[in-house]
Amino acid sequence: MLSKEMQDGLNNQINNEYFSSYTYLSMSAYCESLNMRGFASWLRHQSKEELEHALKLFDYVIDRDGKIVLKSIEQPQAKYNSLLKMFQQVLEHEREVTSMINKLYEQAVNEGDHATAVELQWFIKEQVEEEKSARDMVDNLKLAGDNSSALLILDREMADNSSPTPG
Ligand code: FE
Repeated sequence: MLSKEMQDGLNNQINNEYFSSYTYLSMSAYCESLNMRGFASWLRHQSKEELEHALKLFDYVIDRDGKIVLKSIEQPQAKYNSLLKMFQQVLEHEREVTSMINKLYEQAVNEGDHATAVELQWFIKEQVEEEKSARDMVDNLKLAGDNSSALLILDREMADNSSPTPG
């Protein structure tokens, strides 16, 4: 049985994943408005992945006979100043998510809730990937700078990289 604290923490994390999904969808819309279809489709794909994260936790809480309490999803930012700044925010956001997951993991370990700790290990590994791809994006955008040909090449590359991957 999940402790009340653990259950609250997992329900919160479900909400965080939905907020991430909403944020990436909003960012995708911003890229569409710039006609950067590759970036837009990459972010849309990320948005979908975040929904899967939410559902993975949702299923886990149910499997442990816990109670799901869905909360309202915060409104994401609607305006962004530049692609670079937006991706710097993505990186910042993913780092925050990592620290939230680390806290949940520590809680599980402290409670001796091994099943939850194992479940969260998947998320810990996933965050390594999420931070890496956000960091790569920031680096690439810094290199491209204001060079529109470089940005268009990056945008094409993003389109190629947005095809669904397992996990
Ligand atoms: Fe996530």
